[in-house]
Amino acid sequence: MNLYHSTRSHALACSSKEAVRRGIAQDGGLFVSDSLGEQKIDVSALATMNYAAIARTVLAMLLPDYTEDEIAACVDEAYTGTFASPEVTPVVPLTEKGDATPSTVPSSVLELFWGPTSAFKDVALQMLPRLMARATGTASTGAAEAESTDNASAPEKIMIVTATSGDTGKAALAGFADAPGCGITVFYPEGKVSHVQKLQMSTQEGTNVAVCGVRGNFDDAQSAVKRIFADSALAERLAERGVALSSANSINIGRLVPQVVYYFAAYAQLMRAGTIQAGDEVEFCVPTGNFGDVLAGYYAKLLGLPVAKLIVASDANNVLFDFLTTGVYDRNRPFFTTISPSMDILISSNLERMLYHLSGGDSKLVASLMEQLAKNGRYEVTPELLTRIQDVFACGWAREDEVSAAIAACWRDHGYLIDPHTACGYHVMEQLAPASGARARVLLSTASPYKFPRAVAEALGLDVPADDFACMEVLAEATGTVPPAQLAELRHKPELHHDVVDVEGMSTFVEAAAGRLA
Ligand SMILES: *Cc1c(COP(=O)(O)O)cnc(C)c1O
Repeated sequence: MNLYHSTRSHALACSSKEAVRRGIAQDGGLFVSDSLGEQKIDVSALATMNYAAIARTVLAMLLPDYTEDEIAACVDEAYTGTFASPEVTPVVPLTEKGDATPSTVPSSVLELFWGPTSAFKDVALQMLPRLMARATGTASTGAAEAESTDNASAPEKIMIVTATSGDTGKAALAGFADAPGCGITVFYPEGKVSHVQKLQMSTQEGTNVAVCGVRGNFDDAQSAVKRIFADSALAERLAERGVALSSANSINIGRLVPQVVYYFAAYAQLMRAGTIQAGDEVEFCVPTGNFGDVLAGYYAKLLGLPVAKLIVASDANNVLFDFLTTGVYDRNRPFFTTISPSMDILISSNLERMLYHLSGGDSKLVASLMEQLAKNGRYEVTPELLTRIQDVFACGWAREDEVSAAIAACWRDHGYLIDPHTACGYHVMEQLAPASGARARVLLSTASPYKFPRAVAEALGLDVPADDFACMEVLAEATGTVPPAQLAELRHKPELHHDVVDVEGMSTFVEAAAGRLA
């Protein structure tokens, strides 16, 4: 069942399991499916479905070569007992406090941060390892049938290699720690992640995990990881030991598909709350970096979810805002380090998938645009294509001072505490009038405010102590909210990983970690 193929060529087709295992197509394109949207999900049935039931429905449609039993097991393992909310991703209404002006359309927040690492990436990274295990035939259960593809021989072990600026690394570690048949290596830029983020990674337990600081910045680490993936001599040496490398970032469809689920789950909750009726259109505002989260919203729309508009919210790195307003994508611009580090990105990988779908599956066009991006850092789409894109996506961005102001305003007007990433979305949603036809607006909250206690406490005008854990206490005291236990307890956890290497040493580090896996 070769449903998936590269955005850059219809020739490179494979099953969804193969797409999950590979992560990225051989020609550098991303895996997409042309049958996306042929089947629709009946939204009137959503109101009676819980998160797991919705997840099983969505995953079965997008990953058809996984058996029903495999999908049920993946969903159960990923979401039973791992998220500190019975809804997994709860929807919370934003009500007005005091003399704040009520909005014309009811607004809510979709809280995506109740997983083990307090950022939305948990939703996908709790699922990806389970999907990966069934794609490689190394799951402890339900892996009896072998795929008739080229991986049918001895089960390979997979070494996940990830460079992180903070959030992805910890969520991937938590997902892949002790996952059968997998190992994980995470590189973070030494001295350039927050204190809490560093401790989240350096205290990670698990027999198959490796964490290493890199002397350099995130771009250096990321480029080196790409070189490691492209190193065929290394790949051959690892293959002899039964190990293949793969990726856990959002170019992998195994990370994208689980994110489609919570758009439907949000809709189901709004129906149950009586905020909307089946068929009513909802607008979603999404703090965006690599375009994975908001693309999942577009996939939900293609699967039949009544979506009014998807708002792409950026921080000061507003390359997507410029593209969505002018049709010119140009990464030749200054890079800003902001208080929303996970959105500090100039090459937004998943835009490639959006261009594929909205150009009507024009893989030649996508290949050409991506070549221009690689060569000149710039490309431009036709006015016709831009119009089609703008029919689906609205956009806005927040300056650094506007992000802080949004944290303060949301607290003042709604008594609701948001992190700096969510605050970019809040600012943009406040700037834009609701899309015509929208009966409700939903702001996706991508991280717990306690992951960024310093920036949030400063935005609220509190006295900010030097220590991040003291900042958490100040924030808790002032707002009556509670820090997630897994963040507060980092203070007392032993640091297990102390390695730091130069960029040139990363490949050797990966090979040694892969050797321990074999
Ligand atoms: C990764 C991340 C984002 C950006 O999500 P994309 O899918 O890359 O667009 C936003 N907020 C937080 C907290 C993140 O960790």
